[in-house]
Amino acid sequence: MILRSLAASTALILALPAMAQQDDAAVREVASTDIEAARLTETVRTLASDQFEGRAPGTVGEERTIGYLIGRLQGLGLEPAGEDGTWTQKVPLLHPRLGTPDRVAFQHGGATTSLSFPEDIYVSTLQPSDVAAIDGAPMVFVGYGVHAPERGWDDFKGTDLKGKVAVFLVNDPDFHAEDGEAVAGEFGGRTMTYYGRWTYKFEEAARRGAIGALIVHETAGAGYGWNVIESPGGENYDVVRQPEDLTSLALQGWISGETADKLFADAGLDLADLSEAARGKDFRPVDLDTSFSASFPVTSEVVQSQNVLAKISGTERPQETVVYGAHWDAYGEGQPDELGRIYRAGANDDALGVAGLMEIARAFKAAPAPDRSVVFAFWTAEERGLLGSEFYAANPIFPIEKTVANFDLDILQTAGLAKDVILVGKGQSTLEDDLARFAAAQGRTVSEESLPERGLFFRADHFSMAKRGVPVMLMMGIAGASDLIEGGKEAGQTWVDDYTGRCYHAACDAWGPEWNLAGAVQDIALFRDMGAELANSDDWPEWKDGSEFKAVREESASVRSAE
Ligand SMILES: [Zn+2]
Repeated sequence: MILRSLAASTALILALPAMAQQDDAAVREVASTDIEAARLTETVRTLASDQFEGRAPGTVGEERTIGYLIGRLQGLGLEPAGEDGTWTQKVPLLHPRLGTPDRVAFQHGGATTSLSFPEDIYVSTLQPSDVAAIDGAPMVFVGYGVHAPERGWDDFKGTDLKGKVAVFLVNDPDFHAEDGEAVAGEFGGRTMTYYGRWTYKFEEAARRGAIGALIVHETAGAGYGWNVIESPGGENYDVVRQPEDLTSLALQGWISGETADKLFADAGLDLADLSEAARGKDFRPVDLDTSFSASFPVTSEVVQSQNVLAKISGTERPQETVVYGAHWDAYGEGQPDELGRIYRAGANDDALGVAGLMEIARAFKAAPAPDRSVVFAFWTAEERGLLGSEFYAANPIFPIEKTVANFDLDILQTAGLAKDVILVGKGQSTLEDDLARFAAAQGRTVSEESLPERGLFFRADHFSMAKRGVPVMLMMGIAGASDLIEGGKEAGQTWVDDYTGRCYHAACDAWGPEWNLAGAVQDIALFRDMGAELANSDDWPEWKDGSEFKAVREESASVRSAE
């Protein structure tokens, strides 16, 4: 089947009402495509083998992985799309680690409250200096710290944060709202918005020149306990940035709920009352009349890593790109598990996504060359905080404003054919309408992710592109329970629970003979179909009204309409 005829046949199928029904036979039939499970398996077993040592950035495992990927891409007949005609883009990674602090304290009036790290306060730094220090900086409570013009919401009201420490509430303003409260539903209800993510809060504080940012921890709002907060032990990762792009934050992190209660009470304020006020549009930042001091020794190393990039050049508009992404990195070496396995090789996360990209590339090469270019990006350091994709998005090889869409494969279900596909990030972009249309062509329906409050949409590599305005779509098999042909939703949930409970980021994420890739083949074929249509059209997918990312895309609208 060639790609152009596939799009045409989709329209035909959609005209038949019978296809809207759930039909197991139809699902089975559509699953036999030119994406081949056996080839996926071979790629996964290779990349997850001990020879690749768990594919940690900066290790010999990386060297072998990069060599393998380039070899495969050359074999498929793709063109290099990295720097200077090569297959790679160098990604220098910064790895700063805090040592034992000399001091961490609040001062209010004449009184000093010493804090213990990491019990009362947990921080890290993204600055490459020898010391991370804040000396008597004024603290300001900024509520949820949201600046959302598309929602007519601004918690800052012009408050100057330069040289100050901003104190944030976790999650977004309607997370704790009761039914009937004015803010209820303004930020997606229990669905997390970008404004609820801790990454957003640190970025917003830095945009405003703050020297420190602290989020008040609360388990429900964060989605995890303090044990998760403190588990990195003062380590952090970032891409190496130019001096002018460095964050203004010397320290960023969290304070425990108890620490926050005391901080506010000592200042004669009530955290509960102020938290309620922060759920209103009229909220204004509150000076805490308290200063913050801390000093930590820092050791930093720079790890050299690489993204791998390949392309199929478009014949009509080669400067317009459809970008497929998956991350090649995994967790490297760790403590042996009960089977003695030391490598956390991410067979599913994300060797399977990499294998999917190879299959999509193979399918594209078997079809006539597309009108637009199709780029295949194999990102590094996703597991360190989406860093390979972040580096690319900050230093793009193809113009971001002419990047049509980004499709990301990161963990696929291995439990067999499904009657549905899981949508992550409902309401964000018109790509979800394309997803529904192409799923219907496979005889499948779309189900929403099961825990939108976890904000998966903001937690994989596609998000680096979304932040810069590129419409994105993520395929992530753990986003919800698939409605499996064999066993339905219940069996789908069992698979998700087993994978996330036992194997996620552990040595157990290994290939096994029980893997049934028929469902993964469906999902990969679906993304191939969506990208093939875009690569052969002059359509530009768009963010929907209310999306946090619509405004940034619209800034470059003239570049796209100038065709
Ligand atoms: Zn992953």
